[in-house]
Amino acid sequence: MRSLSELVRPNIRDLAPYSSARSEFTGGAEVFLDANENPYNQPFNRYPDPLQRELKNDISRIKGIPAKCIFLGNGSDEAIDLVYRCFTRPGIDNVVAIEPTYGMYKVCADINDVEYRPVLLDEHFQLSAEKLLNACDKNTKAIWICSPNNPTGNSMNRDEMIAVVEQFDGMVIIDEAYEDFAYQESMRKELLQFPNLIVLNTFSKAWGCAAIRLGMAFAHREVIDIFNKVKYPYNVNLLTQQHAKEAISNVYDVEKWVKLLLQERTVVMKAFTELPCCKEVYPTDANFFLARMTDAQAIYDYLVNEGIIVRNRTRIQLCQNCLRVTIGTKNENTALIAALRKL
Ligand SMILES: *Cc1c(COP(=O)(O)O)cnc(C)c1O
Repeated sequence: MRSLSELVRPNIRDLAPYSSARSEFTGGAEVFLDANENPYNQPFNRYPDPLQRELKNDISRIKGIPAKCIFLGNGSDEAIDLVYRCFTRPGIDNVVAIEPTYGMYKVCADINDVEYRPVLLDEHFQLSAEKLLNACDKNTKAIWICSPNNPTGNSMNRDEMIAVVEQFDGMVIIDEAYEDFAYQESMRKELLQFPNLIVLNTFSKAWGCAAIRLGMAFAHREVIDIFNKVKYPYNVNLLTQQHAKEAISNVYDVEKWVKLLLQERTVVMKAFTELPCCKEVYPTDANFFLARMTDAQAIYDYLVNEGIIVRNRTRIQLCQNCLRVTIGTKNENTALIAALRKL
């Protein structure tokens, strides 16, 4: 494995980070006259904790990862972008990713002027460690894996993922945005063994908090320290930190929602298999599934007309004529099935 200081961009390795008032003095005091804040309009007058310490302690408890090994960002999208800004030199380095997958890995590569090398999954939407590793060269700094994968829904084979992490001498990012819905165990459990592994998760899906924008990255402390050096000083606002703490204190709600959504998923998928306009329903480990239809564009347009929006994935590789369907409430799911039965 290349050392972290070989993998990190030289300008980031040598960067002296911005030092904010709230990071220079962190103790308790009566009078704070150090940050040019307005003393009125509490609590919104004060800058929030730049390292979100209280919230990280709560997340540490529920995820079983030390607070020092947690990065929090403005959605997981911030962590995705930070991987490029910390590890890849624009115009020189490249990254490898499974294909099809979540679109942000490529968008962030393009924004950062980094070559993006997609490696096609097989016909069961599974990855091959060998194929991913064969796509790498000396300038490959990161490999992107999404499990359960968006838009295919399935979890990636665990042994193949471990083989990638073991054999690649750069960073491997495993995006587990849908982990709370998955039967397969999180790769978070493997972090201790692998200093080149970054596991992503988010409050946007199972936690029902897409609006507050909160994403998580779990990794060795050295990696988290690099992210913290590069991120905006106050990247997670006070309202988000407060709401996330409240959500964690109601963790039972999340378990209830997940259970309900998994039950509904079974019902909707079964209904799809019985529709004349549906040719195949693919196995899923997430709160959505992929279905191959007779004519995805026509069915998508028909549903829009009925006031029901699903995601048309027909133009994505391996997903010709596929729709991606998110599981909603019982009423929403019933409306979808009823509309499709009228076709
Ligand atoms: C929805 C999703 C996310 C969430 O991104 P946020 O910025 O945290 O809302 C991340 N990765 C994948 C694969 C997703 O599908």
